[in-house]
Amino acid sequence: MRKKKPDIYERQKSRRQDAYSRAETLKKRFPQLSRLKIDMSFEDYEEEKDSPSPKQEEYGPDSKAFFELKCPYRECIDDGFKLSAAVSEMVTKNETEASGTIVCQGWQDRERVNQY
Ligand SMILES: [Zn+2]
Repeated sequence: MRKKKPDIYERQKSRRQDAYSRAETLKKRFPQLSRLKIDMSFEDYEEEKDSPSPKQEEYGPDSKAFFELKCPYRECIDDGFKLSAAVSEMVTKNETEASGTIVCQGWQDRERVNQY
């Protein structure tokens, strides 16, 4: 089945690209940080499907300090995991490791937008 890609996804994509292009490099934003690794594992909240496979993001000094990570569900709208605050906090506290759980606030598909 072929479906036209809805505009909402296009808007979301360009918003992300804007934010990404505005982001500073890691060495500028956090000079004390030489590298950063983010390990993610996912759990399907409603347990309707298998959990998506784990993902890893690595940042070097010249990487963009952009910590809005995408939701593993491609159809997810307004999705993602905003880790900027967590990263800042970690750097401020001089921690070398931190872990936590974030729930994606996106909607699973268009039909569910604005429904809770
Ligand atoms: Zn999501």
